[in-house]
Amino acid sequence: MKKIDMHVHTRMPSTIGRLANGQTYATPLELHEMYEKIGVETGVILPRVSPECALDVQSNENAKELADKYNMYWFCNIDPRFGGNTSDYNLSYFLEYYKALGAKGVGEVVTNLYFDHPLMQNLFYHCEKTGLPLLFHIAPQIGGYYGIVDDLGLPRLEISLAKYPNLTFIGHSQPFWAEISKISSTDSRNAYPTGKVTPGRVVELMQKYPNLHADLSAGSGYNAIFRDPEFGVWFLETFSDRLYYATDICAPENIHAPFITLSHRLDELVEQGKISDSAYRKISKENALKILEN
Ligand SMILES: [Zn+2]
Repeated sequence: MKKIDMHVHTRMPSTIGRLANGQTYATPLELHEMYEKIGVETGVILPRVSPECALDVQSNENAKELADKYNMYWFCNIDPRFGGNTSDYNLSYFLEYYKALGAKGVGEVVTNLYFDHPLMQNLFYHCEKTGLPLLFHIAPQIGGYYGIVDDLGLPRLEISLAKYPNLTFIGHSQPFWAEISKISSTDSRNAYPTGKVTPGRVVELMQKYPNLHADLSAGSGYNAIFRDPEFGVWFLETFSDRLYYATDICAPENIHAPFITLSHRLDELVEQGKISDSAYRKISKENALKILEN
C-alpha cells in the first residue's frame, strides 16, 4: 500500500540554507523522487512560519501553491504571536481563511513558548473552535531550541489536552518520543534513547486522552518504535487509530537517514504478521485521509 506522509517540508530551489548546516530543502520534484523510492504516494506540506527553526519563513500561500501544483496536501501554520501578540487575539480570523483555501490542519507549530503560555493557549482555543488539528514539535526549554516547551513528564501538554478535548493534538520530536519510556531528570530529553521501553508518559497520555495523536516521523518517531521492537508493535497496534506514517524529510540528503526506512519496516511488520493488516492500513494512510479528506 502506498503511504501518505503526514509531515514533510519542501521548498522551491533556494540557495539560502535550511538550517546552519548548509543543506537546502528538498524541492517538490526531489521529494517525489524520494517518495517513489520508499513507496509513498504524497505528503502534507507543513510550512515554517516561526523564526525559531529556519533561516527564512515559508508562507501559507506558498505551501498551498506547491500542494496544488504537485498533488500534495498542506497545513497552514499560525504563530500565536500573529495579529496582535496578545492572548485574546481572534486567531480564528486566519484559521478560517486558510481552512477555506484548503488547509487541513495547523503546523508544524515550533513556537518556543510554554504549552500553558496564554498565547499558546489562545492558539489551541482557536484551533479547537475551527476544527483544525494541530501538529507540534516539543522543545525541552526556552532558548536554543525550536518547539513548544514542556518539562520532564509533559505536564503542560497534559493541561492542554484536558482543556481542549475537541482539539486533535499531533505530537512529534525528541522530547515527545523520549517519553514513550520512563526517563529521569538526568537523561537528555532532546535525544534518541535506546533500549527496552518501560511505558512512560506518552503511553499514559495516549491512554487517558483520545485527542492525543502522534506522527512517526524523523529519527525520534522511528527510534521510539524500533528501540524495543516488541514494545513497538504493541504500541502501533494499540494506538493504530491515532498514529500517522510520516517522514519529516527536509533535505535530499535525508534519503540516507535511518528513519527513511520506516516505510519498509512497516511493510515488513505486516508481512511477518507482527502487526495486523488493519493497523497497517490505518497508520500508512487511512488515519491521514480522515483528516485530509474531510
Ligand atoms: Zn518537521
